[in-house]
Amino acid sequence: MSLIVQKFGGSSVADAESIRRVARRIVETKAAGHDVVVVVSAMGDTTDELLDLAGQITDDPPQRELDILLTAGERISMALLAIAITSLGVQARAFTGQQAGVITDTAHGNARIIDVTPSRIQATLSDDAVAIVAGFQGVTAQTNDVTTLGRGGSDTTAVALAAALGASVCEIYSDVDGVFTADPRIVPAARKIPRISTEETLELAANGAKILHLRAVEYARRYRVPIHVRSSFSSHQGTLVTDELAEDGPMEDPLISGVAHDRSQGKITIVGVPDVPGTAARIFEAVAAAGCNIDMIVQNVSAAKTGLTDISFTLPLEQANAAKAALAALGGELQGAEVLYDDTIGKLSLVGAGMRSHPGVSARLFGALRDAGINIEMISTSEIRISVILRLEDLDEAVRAIHSAFGLDAAEVEAVVYGGTGR
Ligand code: ASP
Ligand code: MG
Repeated sequence: MSLIVQKFGGSSVADAESIRRVARRIVETKAAGHDVVVVVSAMGDTTDELLDLAGQITDDPPQRELDILLTAGERISMALLAIAITSLGVQARAFTGQQAGVITDTAHGNARIIDVTPSRIQATLSDDAVAIVAGFQGVTAQTNDVTTLGRGGSDTTAVALAAALGASVCEIYSDVDGVFTADPRIVPAARKIPRISTEETLELAANGAKILHLRAVEYARRYRVPIHVRSSFSSHQGTLVTDELAEDGPMEDPLISGVAHDRSQGKITIVGVPDVPGTAARIFEAVAAAGCNIDMIVQNVSAAKTGLTDISFTLPLEQANAAKAALAALGGELQGAEVLYDDTIGKLSLVGAGMRSHPGVSARLFGALRDAGINIEMISTSEIRISVILRLEDLDEAVRAIHSAFGLDAAEVEAVVYGGTGR
């Protein structure tokens, strides 16, 4: 008998009917002879609604109290799901993150799991009951306060529990059938990827693909937990995220796994900064101190006459104000440089482990963008990824063009989007 951890996202438990559907699915897994631990997200858009409510009260709610507020969302869904399973004649018990032994550091709003002590979950399984755990939350040992793991953090709860309990697989259920070669909402010809490495999944997730919480994949990689990404609306096989090689799989890494896109970044350009040692350090120290997460950075060659250069960088849209304020506060240190901000950029990333050993991938990418008449504004690469910044209005077309140029289009439409807004 094996232990399976199943995680259901918000769109899978959006209303009473959905909760009953998910309960039936859990009961089926149990009836097939498995032990089942379930991790659940808040119903539908509950987390956003709770955040909106707090925002209507003040612009700056204290993080500790915000965490208590947000964890209420998962408490509702976990209790309703336990009630639904019990009504089907199977024992179920719901647990908060704290009760489930999810111990975190003290970083309210973005806490990291430092230990999992799931003795109550194990006791529940020994009693032949299903354990339901509220995702996205834990408790910090220092103060005994409730913490949250950051938006989308229920995936991480699920993988952490799967690792701690030695589960055979962590199934992540959402409203799409798995990880696709591109977002099926933009590329109808996107294909489901049957199997993908954690390294490629990390690159896709870090570059805008809304498949899995980044930290969940990091956790799965470190503790070797296989993740099965699948839909709660169908019984299709989804995508297996694992570094174990398939017995009958290909001998080589796939050239391209997929195309990710991201519309959540803005670009700041500082025009006319002195090209002398220390300028970049000064700029990025200030921006870092303001808590901004920089992504791409480009510095131009300086104009010989003036000794001045331009530096551009991208960052999450919601951090742009903080960065602009930090740069303005540098004032005279930038010697009259001008700060420009652009919130209409899009980022496209091509990911594939095979590009490590295959020349010509960037040439093909740039050629396809040229053929589509799309201009590139910034470029960055890693060993297994090429990313470009484009005009936001060109992004969807660019994703489709690149998807075709690399032969990823399916002959027939396979992707079905079952739910609403993602997870
Ligand atoms: N409910 C939380 C959120 O919406 C956590 C999650 O869904 O994983 O971010
Ligand atoms: Mg959610």
